[in-house]
Amino acid sequence: YIEMKQIVKKYGTTSVLKQINLDIEKGQLVTLLGPSGCGKSTLLRCLSGLEEVTSGKIFLDGQDITELEPRKREIGMVFQQYSLFPNMTVVQNVAFGLKLKKKSEGEIREKVKNILEIVGLSQQADRYPTQISGGQQQRAALARAIITEPKVLLLDEPLSAIDALLRRSLQNEIRRIQQELNITAVFVTHDQSEAMVMSDMIHLLYQGQIEQSAPPAEMYLHPKTRFAASFIGNYN
Ligand code: ATP
Ligand code: MG
Repeated sequence: YIEMKQIVKKYGTTSVLKQINLDIEKGQLVTLLGPSGCGKSTLLRCLSGLEEVTSGKIFLDGQDITELEPRKREIGMVFQQYSLFPNMTVVQNVAFGLKLKKKSEGEIREKVKNILEIVGLSQQADRYPTQISGGQQQRAALARAIITEPKVLLLDEPLSAIDALLRRSLQNEIRRIQQELNITAVFVTHDQSEAMVMSDMIHLLYQGQIEQSAPPAEMYLHPKTRFAASFIGNYN
């Protein structure tokens, strides 16, 4: 479904991504896990088109999208924080993508209502981002990203600014919504326990390379390298 082939990304002479090969199956949630600076965000940005690859190819449903501009890729993205437009209410934020697509008022109203129910924000619909909590802001950002039904949803540490208790419940919610709507998602985190509970597949990154790819249980039980063992071993 998504294929990334021999992806290299250089800044100047420094290779930040070194020959990354990555396949992502439809309807799966895969996690890019690894320490700060290993290249997770860069890889996501290459996939979304916000960053150009130095070499390599990216395919989506068999179509070569390597040269395609971001808004034509049908990829939605949720960032770590500050993802919402501050001068718009929750409803206006969530409706934004559909407005761009020139959908009718009726259809927009219907879809927004539906998606706000799914993410549990019906009560906060008319509030501005500063008037809702961090966790609610991230759920609104998620709603805004999925309402246009992108082929792929990219999440770059969307929960890292959120306290531990709420983070756990949002992990479950994101996973539930992703499975319910059969969304293909790439989730970035440096938190091994988050990767363990959320993913179908974990890709462990280290210094711009994929150290190991495996489902959570296998990654935990059979880490292939010393780095994988020590990084995953912190899981409790
Ligand atoms: P974190 O967990 O801290 O978000 P990350 O895995 O997302 O880390 P990246 O943001 O992908 O890491 O960065 C990978 C490497 O590329 C880092 O060493 C970073 O300093 C470098 N880098 C990122 N963006 C640029 C840029 N625009 N110019 C030069 N170097 C960059
Ligand atoms: Mg990052």
